[in-house]
Amino acid sequence: MAEKGKKRCSFCGRTEDNVGLLMTGMTGYICNDCVEQAHAILREEAMLPKSDFRMDELPKPKEIKEFLDGYVIGQDEAKCALAVSVYNHYKRLMQRDACEDVEIEKSNIIMVGSTGTGKTLLARTIARLLKVPFTIVDATVLTQAGYVGEDIESILTRLLQVADYNVEEAERGIVFIDEIDKIARKGDNPSITRDVSGEGVQQGLLKLLEGSVVNVPPQGGRKHPEQKMIPVNTKHILFICGGAFDGIEKKIAQRMNTHVVGYDSVQNSKQVDKSDMMRYITPQDLRSFGLIPEIVGRLPILTALRPLDREALRNILTEPKNSIIKQYVKLMEMDGVALSFDADALEYIVDTAMEYKLGARGLRSIVETIMMEKMFEVPSSGAKSCKITKAYAKKQIDKSAALSLA
Ligand code: ADP
Repeated sequence: MAEKGKKRCSFCGRTEDNVGLLMTGMTGYICNDCVEQAHAILREEAMLPKSDFRMDELPKPKEIKEFLDGYVIGQDEAKCALAVSVYNHYKRLMQRDACEDVEIEKSNIIMVGSTGTGKTLLARTIARLLKVPFTIVDATVLTQAGYVGEDIESILTRLLQVADYNVEEAERGIVFIDEIDKIARKGDNPSITRDVSGEGVQQGLLKLLEGSVVNVPPQGGRKHPEQKMIPVNTKHILFICGGAFDGIEKKIAQRMNTHVVGYDSVQNSKQVDKSDMMRYITPQDLRSFGLIPEIVGRLPILTALRPLDREALRNILTEPKNSIIKQYVKLMEMDGVALSFDADALEYIVDTAMEYKLGARGLRSIVETIMMEKMFEVPSSGAKSCKITKAYAKKQIDKSAALSLA
């Protein structure tokens, strides 16, 4: 019998000298073994298929879009397409269990837009409110089986990992495939050269998009030949693809029988906005770019992201919930310093970003360059405030430009 006065685990009753570690709570104790056991129970619970969604619990497309609005500026068309698609995905999952006569087919999406317009940001943001497993994969690393790179199946490895290897959960998940344009067929004639990262990969991807049972290596890659494959059915997995499709404007222009630059003799050229050819994109253009027709057919929702204009870039700096400027203000606030930017300093940042032509991607590096010295000095200076003027911003940018030229 354990001696009186000794602390005991309130769960298993063992005394403190019989356990590795005893943690103290408000009115009792718990030992390390009981913590582990409780953790195992929780994990097991989480592995059980989640109860089905209820219509009234699901965020409606409008609510999904409003949520996206908090983080992503503009791109309304893409936001609506995403919101509807995700909402329908839930409905399809509910129907799967109900076995009704009208089967709702899935509608995978493809988002096209130049770099830094917010494709990945949209995917990351929507992931925050999803009720199903979600993962982002990069198509650039994919190659045909047998070549250096990742097999197509590795896309599902990530999803399985996110779902904690619960196959049923993974089978209702959403996958965002970034840089899908990188697996476009390179030449018009596929037989001239061996195109290991092009058509072969597309054929592999097609199998996933179509819905089939795929054997997935749980650890991914090819480094573990001994691993036991896990069969995953992709029929209900929603695929969202994104890509910059550099140069597709030319194909669109060709199709529309007009030219992006220079003179043209087309009668209807007046109505065409040549600065934003992407908005006229059709599935046919994706085919001309090098996606095989079967893949294009499996991505029925095609949405184009708008190029970000000056005003959008200005808003991106300050408006989103975690905008770049808000992040710096927060960083400084933690040192007790009130950071502010003059309005013309912000305009200067936007002008510089427009010059760089990197979309919103340029904004962060510009602000970082401007802030670097202050971030280094201010915490130990005892200052209570820090104001960034246009003159200061320009000085820092000019200095770094001079450095990079030296
Ligand atoms: P891509 O279209 O190349 O995938 P990203 O989504 O990765 O572009 O954008 C890069 C960064 O630029 C994001 O992390 C974000 O900070 C900013 N950004 C791009 N587009 C937007 C937008 N529409 N609204 C707010 N921020 C944006």
